[in-house]
Amino acid sequence: VLSRHQRDATRLMQILREIQEELDWLSPQTLTAIAEGLKLPRAKVEGVAGFYHFFHSEPKGRYRVLWSDNITDRMLGNADLMARMCKKLWLRPGEVSEDQLVSVDTTSCTGMCDQGPAMLVNYRPLTRMTPERVDKVVDLIRHKVPLDEWPAEYFVVEDNIRRKDALLGNDLAPGDALRAMRGPAEMLEAIKASGLRGRGGAGFSTGQKWEFCRNAVGTGAHGAHYVVCNADEGEPGTFKDRVLLSAHADLVFEGMTVAAYVIGAKKGLVYLRGEYRYLLDKLNAVLEKRRADKLLGKSILGQTGFDFDIEVHLGAGAYICGEETALLESLEGHRGVPRKRPPFPVTSGYLGQPTAVNNVETLASAALIAAKGAAWYKSIGTAKSSGTKVLSISGDCARPGIYEYPYGVTVSQVLADCGAIDTQACQIAGASGLCIAPGEFGRRIAFEDIPTGGSFMIFDNTRDMFEVARNFVHFFVDESCGFCTPCRVGTTLLKNVMDKIHDGHGGEYDIGDAQRVIKTLKTASHCGLGQTAGNCVADTLQKFRPSYELRLTVREFEPAFDLDKALSKMREVTGRDDPGAHFHIAHRKSKSG
Ligand code: SF4
Repeated sequence: VLSRHQRDATRLMQILREIQEELDWLSPQTLTAIAEGLKLPRAKVEGVAGFYHFFHSEPKGRYRVLWSDNITDRMLGNADLMARMCKKLWLRPGEVSEDQLVSVDTTSCTGMCDQGPAMLVNYRPLTRMTPERVDKVVDLIRHKVPLDEWPAEYFVVEDNIRRKDALLGNDLAPGDALRAMRGPAEMLEAIKASGLRGRGGAGFSTGQKWEFCRNAVGTGAHGAHYVVCNADEGEPGTFKDRVLLSAHADLVFEGMTVAAYVIGAKKGLVYLRGEYRYLLDKLNAVLEKRRADKLLGKSILGQTGFDFDIEVHLGAGAYICGEETALLESLEGHRGVPRKRPPFPVTSGYLGQPTAVNNVETLASAALIAAKGAAWYKSIGTAKSSGTKVLSISGDCARPGIYEYPYGVTVSQVLADCGAIDTQACQIAGASGLCIAPGEFGRRIAFEDIPTGGSFMIFDNTRDMFEVARNFVHFFVDESCGFCTPCRVGTTLLKNVMDKIHDGHGGEYDIGDAQRVIKTLKTASHCGLGQTAGNCVADTLQKFRPSYELRLTVREFEPAFDLDKALSKMREVTGRDDPGAHFHIAHRKSKSG
């Protein structure tokens, strides 16, 4: 494996993944051998392996089952299904069976929210799980049937495209966008004139980003520039990039090639989230075909000097790598910790070189603009949000799936189209996004009103919005990279408060506590994950306060756990059971006067 990657330390992630795929796990000896082979400190290799959820340095069983645990999976009954599976396998969640055959655990959202409950077995997705399907999977595991021999229908991932517009309904053939380009400067002007903005959620002007990158001077022999496609969509409830890559990979790669043409890049990298490992072979086949058709490689379309190629890198289960600088760190073979900005990636990105990092949908849209023109594109959408937006719709509706709309569509229109009734709330833009109540359903999906990367989760009036927020808070604890204290500690404190309220020990004091933590998260965290981690609690507290209030059973402060009970072990050890060896709030109060 090391030789295949030319012993290049920047390829550490791919090396770890490929070795783990062969050996099932990364033993201490394996990590040492990798460190020696790459001439890296062992601590560095261990640090990277320990950072990502999908690498494991202890055996996890021949079959590693991970249940997707997004709120939409919960709503579809994943907890009962996982309990059923564990019972049949005589396992507890998180455990490995004694014979090392199987482990069962949960993972964050797997991007299959439109066809859940979903799970991964050895990182391959299984969708639409039912009790019957769980029983069959248990049988297959017990009989040690290789995954390739499991029924193919278990692994079907549908595209579920329900509404097409300019992008998903495009009639382009591979190469059309490239043949329409007249020169890098003209192409840049077209992207600027189109008003295209980043589809990952932040909405930065794509034309400006490419212009900064094009004007930045690289270092080294070739002054390299890079194009990076961010396909690490990990935001709970988002799965539109999965569908774009599955159904329109050519258009995405073509958009990367357009970007390379404008900024002068020779190399492009797709950072594909680990949960979409199943798409890797298919994407590589599309790339191979494009090389054969002279749409990638040397002298693209016979144009001397227009050289560009693309490689797909796989992530390994870390939501934070959707943040562009964390993604670059990961691409370089490091832990996915966000960098300080400035410098921005456009001047100092991959390997310190000018890099345009764009979302999958942004790049596909850029190809569309190259082929059809800026004016046509600008005529779609609203004044400040040109073009269309692809939404991933899941939750309480009759027709979950992918819906593409011109920007400016109202939330109520979306709800009507997907067959949502009695809707209590929509969570738009994922766990870190915005939770809106029915009074706001006239609002529009657009940068000037509700911007979104594409996640659109629906909750009808049978749902408990406190539990929705609690699920999201747990997600952020799992996904905080741990680099900065406000987020590392703050997300855990917020989780503790939510769990305390859930367990019936909460009062008004705890609501205030949550609000203080949210403020610290927002103002003191290093990156967007921490800054937005409290949004779900802030929104639900404001708009769905009764779901909290019915749990606020305590008038005065009460600890989250029974301290007196926790001391019982020590009483046993010391042989004491006198009043002084007990802790009661009343006792503490009388002591303090
Ligand atoms: Fe990491 Fe959270 Fe700090 Fe971002 S805010 S750097 S995710 S610890």
